[in-house]
Amino acid sequence: MTTATLAPSRRPGLWRRLLQPLVSPEVFDFWAGLVRPGWSWDRPLGRIVARQEAAHEAVTLLIQPNRHWQGFTPGQHLNVGVQVDGRWVQRSYSLSGIPRRDGRIAITVRRVEGGVVSEHLTRRARVGEVLTLGPAFGEMTWPTRATTERVEQAPWLFLAAGSGITPLMSLVRAWAEADMPAGLTLVYWARTRAEFCFADELRELAMRNGRFRVHFVLTREPQLRDNELQGRLSEARLASLVPDLAERQVYACGPSGFVDTARRVAGSARAFQAEAFTPPALTTVAPLTGTVAVHLALSQRTLEVTAGQSLLTALEAQGLRPAFGCRIGVCRTCVCPKQNGSTQDMNTGDMHHGHDSALRLCVSRPASDITLNL
Ligand SMILES: Cc1cc2nc3c(=O)[nH]c(=O)nc-3n(C[C@H](O)[C@H](O)[C@H](O)COP(=O)(O)OP(=O)(O)OC[C@H]3O[C@@H](n4cnc5c(N)ncnc54)[C@H](O)[C@@H]3O)c2cc1C
Repeated sequence: MTTATLAPSRRPGLWRRLLQPLVSPEVFDFWAGLVRPGWSWDRPLGRIVARQEAAHEAVTLLIQPNRHWQGFTPGQHLNVGVQVDGRWVQRSYSLSGIPRRDGRIAITVRRVEGGVVSEHLTRRARVGEVLTLGPAFGEMTWPTRATTERVEQAPWLFLAAGSGITPLMSLVRAWAEADMPAGLTLVYWARTRAEFCFADELRELAMRNGRFRVHFVLTREPQLRDNELQGRLSEARLASLVPDLAERQVYACGPSGFVDTARRVAGSARAFQAEAFTPPALTTVAPLTGTVAVHLALSQRTLEVTAGQSLLTALEAQGLRPAFGCRIGVCRTCVCPKQNGSTQDMNTGDMHHGHDSALRLCVSRPASDITLNL
């Protein structure tokens, strides 16, 4: 594969070495930002350098990160911070392009009705605006070189719904750049035709590469065109499109309901991995009821919270502001050590008793009184 992470050079500049004893990073950032947006002492920031409509109510933003951002691998996501009404807010977005020599990165954002960040990025963000960038995260990438030989022999299947196409598009582009070393079929769902992102590029790639197939499936379009299908993801649909499912390695991405269905209907595949863009629907996990005491060891406080919700939501409801990123258990921004007590993983239903050095607040709910290092 030719798509290894491209990290910018990390050599400290002369001006930084000279200024270090004289000025704090915060003061430097303030003045540097006035002179040249995107400059920072040590914070990864990115400046929007181009924006392009990707579909109805969706936009691709090309961003120039500063030298502090560490690069990514196709299929990963990052947390992006934007200033909306004077307040910095952060959401996760997938990188839709592949690593470039100039270091620029692309995200493709779909507007969510009433959504704070997506409305800002799709409607108001302009070229020149500066965003904060978190490190890239996510495991749904192409296998490492060490395993590529084994993996290349098996064909792949990508299942994407809505914005779930973005990380998979990055992988398709990386695969195309590597001359499609194995068969790849992408099945892509949207409600209406106008919502499909990258449709022309995907069709073009499929025409040029015999090993790549794409199927567009619609759920709310009254009239179908040639090569379009209709209906939700089901076992029958998958069997008709991918008769060799048992041979395939599957990546699925989209809302949590779609990912749950994908996990069920593609369970017989050779391998299956998925990432959901929305918090777990909890349909598979038995409800927890009642209240529990959450003792915060560092701040010496004890809160009474309802057992059914995630610790992150419960703490926020009590006015606390723990760090968070993706809210689906992937980016690990909200990791916090648990000293004792029982918690349940809301994605899997697994119980964890006692000490846990890496409890993810966003997808864990308390099942007993617990003590956190907060
Ligand atoms: C790993 C990961 C990767 C992702 N990648 C992408 C991507 O590539 N592209 C993409 O478009 N999205 C992606 N997302 C989703 C993205 O992170 C955001 O969740 C999405 O853009 C919505 O954020 P928002 O700030 O616009 O909406 P929010 O403000 O968070 O609102 C979400 C919903 O809640 C409703 N809401 C907000 N406030 C209230 C309130 N006070 N009362 C009632 N309802 C309310 C809104 O109307 C909206 O429907 C990804 C998510 C994850 C976890």
